Amino acid sequence: MKSIFSKIIAREIPAKIIAENDEVIVIEDIAPKAAIHYLIIPKLEVRDIQSLAAQDFQVVEPIFKMAQQLSRTVPGAEHFRLLINNGERAGQRVFHLHVHFLAGQLLGD
Ligand code: 5GP
Repeated sequence: MKSIFSKIIAREIPAKIIAENDEVIVIEDIAPKAAIHYLIIPKLEVRDIQSLAAQDFQVVEPIFKMAQQLSRTVPGAEHFRLLINNGERAGQRVFHLHVHFLAGQLLGD
C-alpha cells in the first residue's frame, strides 16, 4: 500500500507543494511546529533509515541539496534545522522516510 506521502507525490491527495525535482518533493507540514515547517520527502518510498539498501543512499544527496536550495530561496529560511524522526519510539508517524525542515520561530503545541 502506498504511503500518504507517495499519494501526495502522485497527486492523489492534496498538499501545499513548495518544490519538486526528480528525486524529492517538498511540502508544507500540515501541523507546523515552526514558522517555516516543510517536509523534504524522497520520491523513493523507503520506510526508515534501517530499510535503506546500499543503492538507496543516493537519496541523501538530493535532500541536502534541496535544504540548501530552500535556505537560499525561502525568505527567513537562511538558518534552519533538519530533523528525522526515525522509528516509532522516536516519534515517526509516517513510515516513508522524510526530513523536517524547520526555520523561524518554533510554535507551541
Ligand atoms: P513524523 O512524525 O513521521 O516524523 O512526521 C510526520 C509529519 O507529517 C508530521 O509532522 C505531520 O504533521 C505531517 N503530516 C502527516 N500527514 C500529513 C498530510 O497528509 N499532509 C501533510 N502536508 N503533512 C502531513
